[in-house]
Amino acid sequence: MFEILPIPAFKDNYIWLLVRDGRAAVVDPGDPAPVIECLEALGLQLESILVTHHHADHQGGVAALVQRWQAEVFAPYIESITGCTQPLSGGETIMVLDQPVSVLAVPGHTLGHLAYFAQGALFCGDTLFGAGCGRLFEGTPAQMSASLMQLAALPDDTLVYCAHEYTEANLRFSLAVEPGNQRLHERIKRVERLRDSELASVPSTLAEEKATNPFLRCREPDVIAAAIEHGAPDISPVAVFAAIRQWRNAF
Ligand code: ZN
Ligand code: FE
Repeated sequence: MFEILPIPAFKDNYIWLLVRDGRAAVVDPGDPAPVIECLEALGLQLESILVTHHHADHQGGVAALVQRWQAEVFAPYIESITGCTQPLSGGETIMVLDQPVSVLAVPGHTLGHLAYFAQGALFCGDTLFGAGCGRLFEGTPAQMSASLMQLAALPDDTLVYCAHEYTEANLRFSLAVEPGNQRLHERIKRVERLRDSELASVPSTLAEEKATNPFLRCREPDVIAAAIEHGAPDISPVAVFAAIRQWRNAF
């Protein structure tokens, strides 16, 4: 089993540190400095780097970390990632710290975006967030909707280790979509308490996301009704998703 620890970076990024028997891997090291500081403090050797997509806040630290530790770098094959040694397209099972990790292709935020799933933990980068999802910079609504449905099919107790602390702002939007969702009201209270104490709202569980994240609820009557009000041309899950995502961009 891995131990999983957050390394906060920039304003609201989480770089996830995986530790096993004094060996370490990191997911999405956008900034090398906090990673080096953390690994030195814990006396760990970095063996593997997992990158979900090419944006600088996810891969900007790779070069410096590789220079220091010669770690292997897993990253999307079709994206330009500095220092990638293990190009992936999704569907593979890779070994990280001698443990199997499933690689999922989740295009939408970017076209090569990957998610990594191991031991009940999902590292989903900028695809699925607490109560939200990533912006569609490169992919289509149909692609992102299919990617989110693929993630939603994982076990309910999956822990969702996304790459940003966006939950509180996302929940304000979720409430606009589904003001009558009781689970959502409970989550808002819980997340407010955590954030007031400067604690992370991540990871959540997939069950929690399925109950409160509008982007995973495109078949719910209230979400469909809100999407129709915001321009969805029909009630297909992709049209509902597209309308909600568009509304979120301007929210
Ligand atoms: Zn991104
Ligand atoms: Fe990001």
